[in-house]
Amino acid sequence: MDRLGQTFKNNVRLMKSRVTKYAVIGVVIAFAAIILATILSSYFQYGAVTLENIARAQKENVTLWVLDAMPFIFAFWGQYSSSIMAYEASSLVLDQTAELRDMTVALEYKAAHEATHDAVTDLPNRVLLIDRTEQAIHAALRQKSVLGLCILNIENFKEVHDTLGHYSGDRLIKQVATRLQGVVRKSDTLARIGTDEFAILLQEVANLQNITGIIDKTKNVFNEPFSVEGLVLDIRTRIGISIFPEHGKDVDTIFQRANLALLAAKQAGKQSVIYSPNLDKNSPHRLTLMGELRQGIENNELVLHYQPKVDLHTRKITGVEALVRWNHPEHGFMPPDEFIPMAERTGMIKPLSEWVLNHALHQCEQWHRSGHKFSIAVNISPTTFLDTELPDLIIGMLSRYDLPSDHLTIEITEGSMIKDPDLAMEILTRLADQGIRISIDDFGTGYSSLAYLKKLPVSEIKIDKSFVTEMLQNENDAVIVKSIIDLGHNLSLNVVAEGVEDQKTASRLKKLGCDVLQGFHFSRPMNNDEFLKRILNQKRLQAAN
Ligand code: C2E
Ligand code: MG
Ligand code: MG
Repeated sequence: MDRLGQTFKNNVRLMKSRVTKYAVIGVVIAFAAIILATILSSYFQYGAVTLENIARAQKENVTLWVLDAMPFIFAFWGQYSSSIMAYEASSLVLDQTAELRDMTVALEYKAAHEATHDAVTDLPNRVLLIDRTEQAIHAALRQKSVLGLCILNIENFKEVHDTLGHYSGDRLIKQVATRLQGVVRKSDTLARIGTDEFAILLQEVANLQNITGIIDKTKNVFNEPFSVEGLVLDIRTRIGISIFPEHGKDVDTIFQRANLALLAAKQAGKQSVIYSPNLDKNSPHRLTLMGELRQGIENNELVLHYQPKVDLHTRKITGVEALVRWNHPEHGFMPPDEFIPMAERTGMIKPLSEWVLNHALHQCEQWHRSGHKFSIAVNISPTTFLDTELPDLIIGMLSRYDLPSDHLTIEITEGSMIKDPDLAMEILTRLADQGIRISIDDFGTGYSSLAYLKKLPVSEIKIDKSFVTEMLQNENDAVIVKSIIDLGHNLSLNVVAEGVEDQKTASRLKKLGCDVLQGFHFSRPMNNDEFLKRILNQKRLQAAN
């Protein structure tokens, strides 16, 4: 028997017992009325209340007979009506319960649908998409297949919404959704995950071409303009794509990386970008790193490595370049490219540069005290360089460590001058007036005007390693290297080549007249202990010769 039938029976039993109770009371009252009526009848009809008179009254009084029938009528009627009422009431209750249950189920379904779908397009929303992605990842792991997640942003949606209003905005979104639905395959999930953001989860993907094929089709959707309230609207989109398992093994990472790719597409002005690890440099993970950098500086987690600069005329180490690394407690040794650009954007570059200058000069002082009279080169980024306090800061440090000012070289890039040429010139002049040497790093990669270079109080140019490392294989690079050397000499500048990786390149640079060489061929950047060992060995070798 089903639950409903059982409930019905129970209800009937309950109702019946209640109604029966009242029928029993009715019967009791009827009996009391018979007894009372019989007593009264024997008294008034026969003059006294005796058993004999009572029996006589019962026998002869016809009205009492009618009364005698009452308990039976009550009992029967009570029993009958109680059954009918119980059945009726129970059916009513059951009908209402079933109706309520149907309504609850419908409401529950509606609530679940609303919680997982977008109200405007009725597409799955972010919650459902995440759930489907999770399931898709499990399936892909079992089948060893690939998934693609595309996040699509409608770039000018805000404009449309603000100018044409809410209603038109929704109509546009509906049209976009309908067109996109035409592109996605049955196995894919199209979702609306933000006001102007859609996502497509691509399942059953055979290979990368498969994904790019769908992305191309998605892009084509926007080739034709949209029409809202008689207006023709050109809609621009950007798409960020990440692939499972190549770019991440869980939902969070896949989403984060597709978002990162979308951000990169926006920044680069491209219509679509597929995630690649180099995009992580700007990721929130890096932002938290920046929070840790301040502490890293205070806790002395930064380390300086030193790379020798070799004078081609004397074949001796005349100076070193200080290159910073971060010995991060969790991420290990991090090269400067991973934190310097971000430090520049977040303002952390100033304390970092002060730390580097301080430690580099302190180290240089120690070398000088032990008889190694090297000069030291420190890299200064554009933002730090264009700070009017920099010259005084450096001058103060030089006197603190008692170092001759011409033993410090400040390496700046062409970017420092382009940003604010007048300020750059003022700072350069103040530093050069103190005898501090200025080197233009990564020369050839910027946009320096030669006329400008002539006016700058610089002592050295460093040919960018991208030209040097390839100069034997690439004739164009060789020509550039030669031109920079000639240019430097014409302007009476010292010319340094960085990125010298082998003897052949060193010989060619010597032939071209380069003054100083720096690169892995001579030495990789080393910590102070390794560097000192190297110097002592070299001195021992020279003494033995
Ligand atoms: P940079 O100033 O041009 O430094 C030269 C870079 O080339 C160094 O990379 C060095 O390790 C690398 N290098 C040296 N020889 C060779 C070679 O033969 N072949 C190749 N392929 N590479 C070579 P590193 O140490 O990773 O530094 C990268 C950049 O980070 C530096 O380029 C500089 O712009 C910046 N940097 C380093 N330390 C500091 C610092 O203390 N402050 C600032 N603002 N920037 C710094
Ligand atoms: Mg440098
Ligand atoms: Mg360089």
